[in-house]
Amino acid sequence: MPTYHYRCKNCGYDFTEQQSFSDEPITVCPQCGQEQVHKVYAAPSIEFKGSGFYRTDRGSSK
Ligand SMILES: [Zn+2]
Repeated sequence: MPTYHYRCKNCGYDFTEQQSFSDEPITVCPQCGQEQVHKVYAAPSIEFKGSGFYRTDRGSSK
């Protein structure tokens, strides 16, 4: 299950939540209760161990 990173624009509360793709994104902050939460990124556990990832990125960005 992918982990999503959220941040509250109101109080700055920072948290991660495991959700499936069918789950609705969180909008209400669990700390202050305001509807100010936005998704920071939605990367479903990408592994950065491989050396090929950034190498290809560097090479093609020229
Ligand atoms: Zn908040």
